[in-house]
Amino acid sequence: MFTLPPLPYSFDALEPYIDAKTMEIHHGKHHKTYVDKLNAALEKYPELQKKKVEYLLKNISSIPKEIRQAVINHGGGHFNHSLFWELLKKDTKFTGEIEKAINKKFGSYDNFKEEFTKSALGLFGSGWTWLVLNNGQLEIINTSNQDSPLSQGKIPVFGLDVWEHAYYVKYQNRRNEYIEAFFNVINWEQVNENYNKTNNQ
Ligand code: MN
Repeated sequence: MFTLPPLPYSFDALEPYIDAKTMEIHHGKHHKTYVDKLNAALEKYPELQKKKVEYLLKNISSIPKEIRQAVINHGGGHFNHSLFWELLKKDTKFTGEIEKAINKKFGSYDNFKEEFTKSALGLFGSGWTWLVLNNGQLEIINTSNQDSPLSQGKIPVFGLDVWEHAYYVKYQNRRNEYIEAFFNVINWEQVNENYNKTNNQ
């Protein structure tokens, strides 16, 4: 069975960029619901309960049809949020291998930020904007709902939750302000770790 991982910091750790109330609801209610519904979907499939969620998403076409969409939605929700919490921290420095790779691919941090922001603003409805490795190449992509890049054979380096539940309490309809705030709480230490790990696979 899958369990809700504890938030690796206090609810108010990302204030004022992401408010404590949002973190409390987002982690304790939204993420928890994905975990609960994933477990419910896998109830009749004890062999799948033993797999890692990454495995389920990477091998989504092998999941029995009657629960496949539930695994996409709730397995994706569980994986995406687990990754997201780890990606947030104030006052880390844009540095290391990811700095070199982003500068090489996008020309500069500012260009990268502009492209990522444009992608996140352009996402219609609910979904995520990602920096992924696609065959070893950095790429910015959007996914709808809780669809995971893993199911497209892409490896997430970091991602932004662009569902309204991620920002509505503080920012209401001002998605642009939320995206801007996100750039103040990207945990570049963790992003470097993700990048180095995936890049060496
Ligand atoms: Mn969310």
